Amino acid sequence: MKKKSIHSFDKFLRKLFPLCRSLSGEMNRKTLKILQEIIPLKIKEIESKTKVFDWEIPLEWNIKEAWIKDSKGNKIIDFNENNLHLVSYSIPIKKIISWPELKKHLHLHKEISDAIPYRTTYYKKDWGFCVTHKQFELLESLQGDYQINIGSELKDGSLSYGELIIKGKSKKEILISCYICHPSMANDSLSGVLLAAFLADHIKSFSNQYWTYRFIFVPETIGAIAYCYLNKNKLKDILMGLVITTVGGPGSFSYKQSWEKDHVINKVIEEVLKEEKKDFVVHPFDIHGSDERQFSSPGFRINMSSLFKDKYYEYDAYHSSLDNLELVNGEQINETFELYKKIINKLEELVFFKSQNMFCEPMLSKYDLYPKIGGSLIPNNKNSDYISNILWLMFYCDGTKDLLSISREVKVEFKELLIIAKILKSKNLLEQL
Ligand code: ZN
Repeated sequence: MKKKSIHSFDKFLRKLFPLCRSLSGEMNRKTLKILQEIIPLKIKEIESKTKVFDWEIPLEWNIKEAWIKDSKGNKIIDFNENNLHLVSYSIPIKKIISWPELKKHLHLHKEISDAIPYRTTYYKKDWGFCVTHKQFELLESLQGDYQINIGSELKDGSLSYGELIIKGKSKKEILISCYICHPSMANDSLSGVLLAAFLADHIKSFSNQYWTYRFIFVPETIGAIAYCYLNKNKLKDILMGLVITTVGGPGSFSYKQSWEKDHVINKVIEEVLKEEKKDFVVHPFDIHGSDERQFSSPGFRINMSSLFKDKYYEYDAYHSSLDNLELVNGEQINETFELYKKIINKLEELVFFKSQNMFCEPMLSKYDLYPKIGGSLIPNNKNSDYISNILWLMFYCDGTKDLLSISREVKVEFKELLIIAKILKSKNLLEQL
């Protein structure tokens, strides 16, 4: 079984790695279509220029070829050799230019001389090439002008994204998000896309999962914003979520806490890492990062965490041509995959109740839950524990705090609280989510 999933990760890494993905375009569609070989993903489109909150869907970008030739017609830099050579969303251009002009449009990796850096120009009409230090020196040493050709197209089209909703017993949902906008890099973000797809496939194999799972495959930032815009009301049913990215490096595990550090999603991830005896680093919530910024913004406030193996920003090859299939492999992704499966198991065990009497405490005697003779209740006896537990439950069950967290908070055994919660449910004081 383990071998089989490693093999599948490797197979799809090889298939998807070469595609030049971006915010939009045919290669994003192709990526989503290939993911349909794993899961029945719905591919959806949102038209260019659609306003989504404070943003606008950009024109659709497609690219056929891009190169720099010397004055004799020799190709020195070729997009077909590595799609990172071209700054993503470069405008079409075909002209002959001088070295000083070309130089302004060349990008180098600051630390690693033989890496091609990853650059984008999504919201500024510009163009550029990314090269190694050696290629830069070669270009500089050439005599004469340079022929530049960028065979790109920016048109009124659409932005594509994928969605899969796996219905559970509860209408409450877990959101799982990943981004499909990076060209040929393996850890960021392809490893996360594949892990998310195989995790969806794994959950689909459950016959009776409790939560509903919403998987989305969107270009980062604009795609997540567009998704939030289109699904504003549906996101109200989301209890918490995971942003899956950079999960396939050779390095160590770490996790980024959701915006409320005491939220159960963080505890679940930390428990899994400890139970599996993994060394790990904790990254507190930070406003930089991935799409948790959108889902956790004030209008949504969804707690989103991420478990990584070589987190973005933290590994040398990040955003460069060295983030490739020599760095990332199926075995490494599978290690993280096993942890994510355990996270899902724990999420499935969580129990949430919500008070049906949210404003002030209920009058317990009306429900036959309180001693009939006033004054007979003395704190710290058995009878009062029962009443206290009812009061604690009615106090904490606002639908955001799970029962296990409440039991830890009030230091009462989970099983005992569950029995009382079920009594309160039978009296319509609590609703199970
Ligand atoms: Zn990135």
